[in-house]
Amino acid sequence: MLPRPVLILAGTREARALCGRAAAAGLDVLASLAGRTARPDLGVPVRVGGFGGDDGFRAALAGVGAVLDATHPFAATMSRRAATICAAEGVPHLRLTRPPWPVEPGWRLHPDAGAVARAIPPDARLLIASGPGTLDALAGAGARRWCRRVDPAPPDRRAAWIVGLPADEDVEVATMRDLDVTHLVAKNSGGSGRAKLDAARRLGVAVHMIERPPVPAAGEETHDPERAFAFLRAHADHPRSG
Ligand code: NAP
Repeated sequence: MLPRPVLILAGTREARALCGRAAAAGLDVLASLAGRTARPDLGVPVRVGGFGGDDGFRAALAGVGAVLDATHPFAATMSRRAATICAAEGVPHLRLTRPPWPVEPGWRLHPDAGAVARAIPPDARLLIASGPGTLDALAGAGARRWCRRVDPAPPDRRAAWIVGLPADEDVEVATMRDLDVTHLVAKNSGGSGRAKLDAARRLGVAVHMIERPPVPAAGEETHDPERAFAFLRAHADHPRSG
């Protein structure tokens, strides 16, 4: 049988770290990016762009030995599909996600951005750290809106952009003070981007947190990168070296 790589559904820091380790270990993996942002060098072969729905993903599985889903915890469509179709086709599958941030007293929790929009007062000055994908739902919320995004984009009537990666707490405090932000909208992504939450607590800015989408019924999830790497080792059984 021809060697078949492990497909790593990427697009996160965790995926990038795993790809780096797989490259160093000479494991046969293929990373997949949705193509939403500039393409990072992952050090392993990469395919870019959607699979073309469920049928496209099912077809792509023919060429892979296993699937490690290391997409963002909010990439619900991709993760549900990967878990369900891998289970149906008998393809080994594991999902790696960062643990969520523990809920803090005072946070308002919401199932989606639409629910956030309904809870925001009309005079609010919103910092939207939940991604441009939530902007349609939030376009009418509050009096002023700023939205953080990774890559530059043309001006948008829904919000002013703040371009760049999340900053450290002092920079987040300075940004919120400069803009006189009253409300922060975030997703419970977990991981290192929590400085905004600490900054909001320091300034008394109201936090509206979008909770994670439900975990797919099929498939298994881990928060442990070592377990994910062991999965790669176990299934990428045609190493290029070593
Ligand atoms: P999604 O809603 O679950 O997926 C939307 C569509 O994007 C999928 O149906 C699929 O298109 C394509 N897609 C998603 N992940 C892909 C991947 N790794 N490789 C190839 N195609 C992929 O996902 P999303 O929320 O739009 O996220 C897209 C990417 O951005 C993911 O890789 C995710 O990890 C990353 N990301 C998302 C967030 C977030 O907050 N959602 C934050 C940071 C990074 P087809 O149907 O055509 O196959």
